[in-house]
Amino acid sequence: MNLPAKSDYDYSAIDNPQLVAVLQGYADKIRTSVKKTFDGAVEMSRSVRDVRNLFRESSVSDQEFRRWISFCCGISPSQAYICCTTADLLDEFPGYDEYFNISSLRTLGSLTTRRLPGINEEIQRSLDRKQKIDHKEAKEIISRAKKTVKWPPAVCNEAQQLVLSDIGRFDYDQDLISQLGEYDDEVQVDLCRSVLRDMQTFEQAIATGEVPFTTPEEACRTENQRIEDACRALMRIFNKTVPQSVLLDNQTIESARGAIRNAQETLKMAKGKVCPRCDGLDDSCKACEGIGRVTAMRHSQLKLR
Ligand SMILES: [Zn+2]
Repeated sequence: MNLPAKSDYDYSAIDNPQLVAVLQGYADKIRTSVKKTFDGAVEMSRSVRDVRNLFRESSVSDQEFRRWISFCCGISPSQAYICCTTADLLDEFPGYDEYFNISSLRTLGSLTTRRLPGINEEIQRSLDRKQKIDHKEAKEIISRAKKTVKWPPAVCNEAQQLVLSDIGRFDYDQDLISQLGEYDDEVQVDLCRSVLRDMQTFEQAIATGEVPFTTPEEACRTENQRIEDACRALMRIFNKTVPQSVLLDNQTIESARGAIRNAQETLKMAKGKVCPRCDGLDDSCKACEGIGRVTAMRHSQLKLR
């Protein structure tokens, strides 16, 4: 990578020659650091990928590779796989390393993005414009590539969106996608959802055309988990998005957090247990109205009776 381009910053706004000289010195220093960080990331990605290939060529299991990389290099296996796909991406565009930055490499190098049909054509299109690909451009490339995906006419729009939402999970395969189109729209959506929820692989979903039966306990666990996730998301969004404003004092923030904690507690009261009357198996059960699960409070009431 070359040094990041100097753009024409107009130093005339700073009426202090000494300060300008110091700033110019810092600009060079920081640009050099940015370059070093980027070069380091690229080199690391290639080395990690080389090691993974060595493991494969020597028929040592992927599991051993994951252990090795975390024990010996302190890199998590998921990070390691991103390194591998990033290195593959760079190899597809030889001589263009300098056109990416760390963030766009990570975005375009993820497995999900690598599997998006048409992604390389869109990347090439940006590169042909001699344009640096930053995070924003990477996002645009992905959204343009999604639009170029060819769908068999029978695949309904909702199923298309679900597949695009996590294309890596579907191991995008034109054949399987065509077969998906042979099911009714509603079934297509159910099948895609079951793949996204890790209930089965896309291949299994297409082969059976059915969503696997979940036990009442599993259904209950899944739903409780989603309630927990929602509660955590509430606080996370609050912490992440509330601005640091002079008008927002600590007391206001803390009292808003208290209200969110109350909301979390209220939501958590809706967490379920399998209906003790029908064990979650009777569609016409009056105690749970056929849902198969009840809230913890209702559960203890039913137990008492
Ligand atoms: Zn019941």
